[in-house]
Amino acid sequence: MIERLTVIGVGLIGGSLARALRDARAVREVTGFGRSLSNLELAAELGVIDRVAVSLADAVRDANVVVLATPVGAMPEMLNGIGSVLPETTVVTDVGSTKESVMAAAQSALGEKYSRFVAGHPIAGTEQSGVAAAVADLFSQRRVILTPDVDTDVEAVSKVVAMWQATGAHVMSMSAAEHDRVLAASSHLPHVLAYALVDMLVRRDDHRAIFDCVGGGFRDFTRIASSDPVMWRDICLANRQAIVAMLNQFHDNLSDTIEAIERGDGDFLLDTFTRAKHARDKIFHSLPEA
Ligand code: NAP
Repeated sequence: MIERLTVIGVGLIGGSLARALRDARAVREVTGFGRSLSNLELAAELGVIDRVAVSLADAVRDANVVVLATPVGAMPEMLNGIGSVLPETTVVTDVGSTKESVMAAAQSALGEKYSRFVAGHPIAGTEQSGVAAAVADLFSQRRVILTPDVDTDVEAVSKVVAMWQATGAHVMSMSAAEHDRVLAASSHLPHVLAYALVDMLVRRDDHRAIFDCVGGGFRDFTRIASSDPVMWRDICLANRQAIVAMLNQFHDNLSDTIEAIERGDGDFLLDTFTRAKHARDKIFHSLPEA
């Protein structure tokens, strides 16, 4: 049981975590802090948080656990704001989609208290944002990746593991570098492609005719282009190297496909599409729909 939880950034993920912990009776009091008062008031009205903090210092002063759930670009400012006022025993964690950048910011802002910072990332979400979209079962049966450092306090890690397990999530650990490399492929690359595809089409003169003729395939492929642009700008800037490496590899593969279509190479296309179909069928046979 967490006595006092503070969520900084009470949106889809922070709000869903608070809701899940409340439902599981794994938290006694939730304090929220963020950017706009109107969002925090809505969070209180919806019963997601009990109390709106008036400052970062007010938000963390009594907290047993602090969860950073803003876009990753805002996390350095939040960490710098709490560094000097954080109680010695408070555990801090985050839900950011990139890990090396957030951990570097935490290390520089928290000093000795960095040993109680446990970086994390729930592999769950939707293209929606904001506290109104927060739901208690968002993390149920989903994975949460923790990327503790070698010196991270073992009790702090246990506390964060227990917090996520209370939401119904499965917790796993890996290094921050591995996380950022793997997520660049599994999540960041598809988001960049979806945004680029829709943006390319909408800038064509005949985009109205194109969008009049879209079907389920286009909807499936581009759903994630409805995600929050600020969040995805921040992820791209924070995980630049790994994302560029994946985009370059994709670019090379796409060039091969373009050449195969140009030369009418049906064998190449059939091999590629068959391999991809089997891989996708296998992946989603064992995973729940996102
Ligand atoms: P969200 O619904 O937009 O919520 C973000 C919250 O952060 C909002 O309440 C916002 O406040 C607040 N915020 C934004 N900028 C701020 C700032 N400069 N200072 C203080 N508060 C600020 O976003 P989300 O989808 O929950 O994502 C939150 C984090 O989770 C991100 O780091 C993201 O990478 C990570 N994540 C997202 C997903 C996903 O699928 N969405 C999945 C896993 C992890 P206002 O409402 O006042 O603007």
